[in-house]
Parts: sequence; structure tokens; C-alpha cells
Amino acid sequence: MAKHPLQFIEVRRKDPDKQPAEERVRHFGEIYGHYDPANAAQQAGRCLDCGNPYCEWKCPVHNYIPNWLKLIEAGKLFEAADLSHQTNSLPEICGRVCPQDRLCEGACTINDMGAVSIGSIERYITDEAYAQGWRPDMSEVADTGKRVAIIGAGPAGLGAADILAREGIRAIVYDAYPEIGGLLTFGIPPFKLEKEIVRRRRKLLEGMGVKFVLNTRVGVDISFQQIIDEHDAVFLGIGTYKYVDGKLPGQDLPGVVDALPYLVSNINRQLKVDADPANFINFAGKHVVVLGGGDTGMDCNRTAIRQGAKSVTCAYRRDEENMPGSKREVENSKEEGVRFLFNRQPIEIVGDKHVTGVRVVETKLGAPGPDGRRQPEPIEGSEEVLPADAVAIAFGFRPDPPAWFEEHGIESLPSGRTRVSTHGEFPFQTTNPKVFAGGDMVRGSDLVVTAVFEGREAAKAISKYLGVW
Ligand code: FAD
Ligand code: SF4
Repeated sequence: MAKHPLQFIEVRRKDPDKQPAEERVRHFGEIYGHYDPANAAQQAGRCLDCGNPYCEWKCPVHNYIPNWLKLIEAGKLFEAADLSHQTNSLPEICGRVCPQDRLCEGACTINDMGAVSIGSIERYITDEAYAQGWRPDMSEVADTGKRVAIIGAGPAGLGAADILAREGIRAIVYDAYPEIGGLLTFGIPPFKLEKEIVRRRRKLLEGMGVKFVLNTRVGVDISFQQIIDEHDAVFLGIGTYKYVDGKLPGQDLPGVVDALPYLVSNINRQLKVDADPANFINFAGKHVVVLGGGDTGMDCNRTAIRQGAKSVTCAYRRDEENMPGSKREVENSKEEGVRFLFNRQPIEIVGDKHVTGVRVVETKLGAPGPDGRRQPEPIEGSEEVLPADAVAIAFGFRPDPPAWFEEHGIESLPSGRTRVSTHGEFPFQTTNPKVFAGGDMVRGSDLVVTAVFEGREAAKAISKYLGVW
């Protein structure tokens, strides 16, 4: 039967069910349910097929969104899974963690009436197809005999491995951690992305011939020289791990922690990789202040709530409109009981032998700074101390090139980001022709989907460099 042209009005947007806040704060698992085939088809059918797929352009990997929506509407699940993997190496993960409100769904033509639930459908496609036995089709792939080393098993490295494997190039991925995923595993909390999803992706990639060499830090456990010597090319996707230092007086007081070790200590406990209580940072029973308004800040808020903090206050120096965190995660934090204080800039951590509070000053937004964003300006006489017995600092990360970069002619920009070619024959090639790079180490801390995109594009350039593409 032909689709009614105004189906998007008759069928309202319906996201997969979300657990009520009082239920979900009692565990660390994912909070959203799943579409069934009928819901997925009905929601996919809301796509107008408007002819101007702005959603595709706004999606950093340029997914063929209207096309896979049509396939899902028609019940062609495996075809949708194949198509979805033509542009994205981690579709079920991006469907879970992308800030869709400012990417694909924000650009959807019917956004005013409730955008098509693109992220949830993208996630459904791989989850359901995998459950029904779908696997990437490698039957036409012939081994080229080429070998490429990938350093870093985060989204950039996994995106590169996926493309290389499909080109018949052997991808050997080295990572310092005991599991793959980078920040997907050791950063993003399980209530946004359950670790089983990353493990499932590992199985899929291993099934495609990708080899993982874990617990291996390049430059410590194996030299970069050996890697270069044993492979035809190298892809670097080592991320950004140096903290932005707010240089706040008192920031070294006991009770003040950096966001990432805090989140990772909790994840390690969930994963049972580290049972030592001395390594577990627990905010149970504490009055917690989280400083920072990005995704990492939201993850600290919601982790502290789940650990049983007495109160969680998130202070951010700009207004809500200008917060970098995904709107969905800010909403989830509010529902779970986090108190937000906008336009508050921290100026000092207060305490003697232990933190007792954070001195903040109220701000108003002034003229745009060099990054184009309006700069917060302190309002004189507006200082106050927010009482706290635990503080998490989430000001972000900067790239930190290891010493062996220079030894091997891999140049960095003054910001620490790795210099790569943006034009010409081999995009993402570093100043060492045999070495390519992508993801956070090249663009600065950003998103999973942009890291996947750069890994994939760099791998295409590597294939070309090796004469395979
Ligand atoms: P990473 O994911 O950092 O992976 C780098 C890998 O390289 C790591 O596994 C590391 O162990 C390995 N490595 C580094 N040096 C070496 C070495 N010498 N030898 C071997 N291995 C090495 N993005 C979103 O889109 N949505 C979100 O909701 C979101 N939430 C986030 C929450 C937190 C707490 C954080 C910190 C980030 C979040 N991000 C989110 C950002 C996103 O996780 C990153 O942009 C993305 O993971 C970058 O991918 P990458 O592959 O460049 O680096
Ligand atoms: Fe949207 Fe992200 Fe999926 Fe692209 S990858 S369609 S931006 S959820």
C-alpha cells in the first residue's frame, strides 16, 4: 500500500522507552529500551524522503540515511545493515552516543514536528541484524599480502581497521589497554554504552581478519621502529589524554579528582578488571561539585548520582544554550537529580586538609573569543562558595605527542595536534610519508563519529598509498 505523504504527522516520533529516573539511577546499565521490527518500520516510515537529505550532510560519515530508512520500512533488515556499514564502521555505537540533536536529527526537515529518530533506528539495524545472524560479507575480499599497523584501538583505529580489512589489507591493531574501544570502553560510562556492545564489535572485526595486540604500549612494550620495520604503513589513532589545566588554587587538595581517572575507576570496577578498593574513587554519601559542561562533565554527574552521592551540582561558566554537552545528556542529568549552576566560573578550590568547597564567580557572556564563542566575563562582587566534599574537574583534554614522534619525523602543531595533509593525494598522511593519523590526536577532543570518519578516510588514503585502492 502506498505511504500516506503526511505519515510523519499521523505517526508521532516515538523513541525507544527510557527507564524512569528513579529506576535507572540504581544501576549502571543502559537506560533506553529497543525498537521491535514493527516500531522501527513505523518510525522509519516517518521519513518524508524530502529530496534534500540535510541529515546525510550533517552526519560526519555521510550515512545514506533516507535509503536505510526505506529498507527498514520495507523490512529489509540485512540489506539495511550492509548499507549502514558502507559509510560507518560503528553504526550501533554512533546510534547510541552521537549528539543527534546537533547532527543528523537537528538537520531533519521535519525537526519542528519531531525529527525522525535516526540514531535509535541506526542502532536498531545492527543490534537486530546481528541477533538474527547478519555478519559483514567478506566473501569477495582477496588478501593483498600488505600489512598495516594501527596504533590505538579507539574509534579512529577501528574505523581504519574496518576499511583496511575490506580492502584485503591485514590490519594489526596495537593498544595499551586490555580491551579495544579506547574511550568507548575506558571513558564513556556503561549507562550510555554497555561494554558488551564494544566486545561484540571486536568479535565482528576479528571475524573480518583484524588482529588485536592488546596490553601493548608502543614506545614502551614495543618500539615504534620495530612497528615501522614490520609493516607497509602505519595508522596512528592515539587520542588526547593530557588534561586541560584550569590552574585553580587548591586543585591538588585531597577530594579533588580529574574526570577521566574517576570515570575509569568506576568502569574498571563494573568490568571487574580492577578489584583493588584503593583504586576505586567513590562519591557515595558526598556532596559533589562537577566543574565543566561537556560530555565528560555529564558522565561524572550521572556516575556520582549512581554511586549514591548526597548531592551533585554541576557548575558551568557559560549559559545552558552554550553548553558543549549533548542536550540529551544534560536532560538525562537533570532528570536524575543533578543541579546545574550556569554562568559560574570556578576561581579556587577551598579547603585545608581536604576540599570543603569551590569558590565561583558569576559570569555574563561578552564578545566572541578567537574560537568564535562568546567569552564569559566575571561579574564583580558575585563570588560565593559552593560547599563540597568531592570535586571532579572536567575541563577537557589536549593532545600530547610522545617523544618518538619527533624521532620519526612526525610533526605536531603548536597545539599538540598532529600535522596531517588535508589536500593532495594522501589525506591524513603525516610528515612521515609511511605514517597516517586521525581522530582526536589530529582534530583535538571531539566525537566518536568524527574519529571513525577520519580513521576510515585515512585507511582509504593508505590503500591508495599501497597501490591497492
Ligand atoms: P581514543 O578513543 O582516545 O582511543 C585512543 C586509543 O589509543 C586508546 O585506546 C589508547 O589506549 C591508545 N593508545 C594511546 N597511546 C598509545 C600507545 N603509545 N600505544 C598503544 N596504544 C595507545 N563522543 C561522542 O561522540 N559521544 C559521547 O557521548 C562522548 N562521551 C565522552 C565521554 C567521555 C568521558 C570522554 C572522555 C569522551 C567522550 N566522547 C564522546 C569523545 C569520544 O570518546 C572521543 O572523541 C573518541 O573516543 C576519540 O577516538 P580516538 O580513536 O581518536 O581516540
Ligand atoms: Fe546521526 Fe551519528 Fe548516525 Fe550520523 S552516525 S546518522 S550523526 S547518529
